[in-house]
Amino acid sequence: MHPFSYTRVSNTREALDAGRGGGRYIAGGTTLVDLMRETVERPETLVDITGLPLSEITVTERGGLRIGALVTMSEAAANRKVRTTYPVVSEALELSASAQLRNMATIGGNIMQRTRCTYFRDVTADCNKREPGSGCAALHGVNRTHAILGTSDACVATHPSDVAVAFAALEARVHLLGPDGTRQVPFVDFLLRPGSTPQHEQALRRGELITTVEIPALPRPLRSGYLKVRDRQSYEFALTSAAVALHVRGGVIRQAKVAAGGVGTVPWKLPAVEQHLVGERPSESLWAAAAERAADGARPLQHNRFKVELLKRTVERQLRVVGGTK
Ligand SMILES: Cc1cc2nc3c(=O)[nH]c(=O)nc-3n(C[C@H](O)[C@H](O)[C@H](O)COP(=O)(O)OP(=O)(O)OC[C@H]3O[C@@H](n4cnc5c(N)ncnc54)[C@H](O)[C@@H]3O)c2cc1C
Ligand code: SF4
Repeated sequence: MHPFSYTRVSNTREALDAGRGGGRYIAGGTTLVDLMRETVERPETLVDITGLPLSEITVTERGGLRIGALVTMSEAAANRKVRTTYPVVSEALELSASAQLRNMATIGGNIMQRTRCTYFRDVTADCNKREPGSGCAALHGVNRTHAILGTSDACVATHPSDVAVAFAALEARVHLLGPDGTRQVPFVDFLLRPGSTPQHEQALRRGELITTVEIPALPRPLRSGYLKVRDRQSYEFALTSAAVALHVRGGVIRQAKVAAGGVGTVPWKLPAVEQHLVGERPSESLWAAAAERAADGARPLQHNRFKVELLKRTVERQLRVVGGTK
């Protein structure tokens, strides 16, 4: 591990000053410390933000939810409001990592986590994300777990977060505080596709702090849920996943919010699937026809062609579960 200095801040002003000076925020430390041990990350200054007042979950005026960046994954998953309003969020969290990690890890840290691509974490391998211009060992290497959507010639790594898939589906917004004040970014624009610059992963400016993630109010009744398909039943990242929320009134689907995980370089919103559902009556044939659109535009690699079919089946199954025709 490279030498670094450590400072603990007690208010946002101190945090922003330290961030502007090049300090790296640390919350639960469950992923940043790993990367520092592996020398993938080499920050010179760590700014411990766990003393900031960002640990609340509040209901917005319109009936949405704001989850503080420092709320732990287990607190968010157990929160009554989250569980009753957006089960897709609590399910995605409960299917993530392990209980011990969820007790330490925060919502802000979760959406900021970096890819699990093994070449990224192996400092002897070529990796454009870790070392721009060095190449991508995964393109012609072992790429079974890599992305089939949103890839580029520079990088094919997936974004590993589960709850980010739920946030993308629900069209959440990320609230940021920086030296120039506050701003909001739609969740689907917050995480960046690799393009030719895979080292740029989030729409964060220097020193900006995530303060909350806001989930907008959605019409009631809203049924939602998360399905995660992986190589083993616990403590594993997704091969594919589906976050689904449906508002059905008078026997007709009025709103559909769908996103997939484990398949995209970012959580993958599925507008073609959503459009196929809206205005229709729930049925087995509808789920199957809508899910056919889930892999539109997919560019599978040598070892992950299976993800195309697996993705469609994952989405179809979760539509059936949430839509209530199982
Ligand atoms: C073995 C293992 C298995 C895992 N399995 C899963 C899984 O199945 N699903 C899943 O979703 N995740 C999984 N994870 C990832 C885990 O959820 C993350 O490690 C955790 O959420 C990160 O949160 P943290 O608070 O510890 O972040 P930290 O490690 O403290 O920080 C991570 C990054 O976020 C930045 N950051 C943190 N807070 C802020 C903020 N408020 N504003 C700006 N930047 C900030 C830090 O600078 C750093 O770059 C796993 C992790 C491990 C180690
Ligand atoms: S897929 Fe991305 S993270 Fe993995 S080796 Fe290639 S450039 Fe690096």
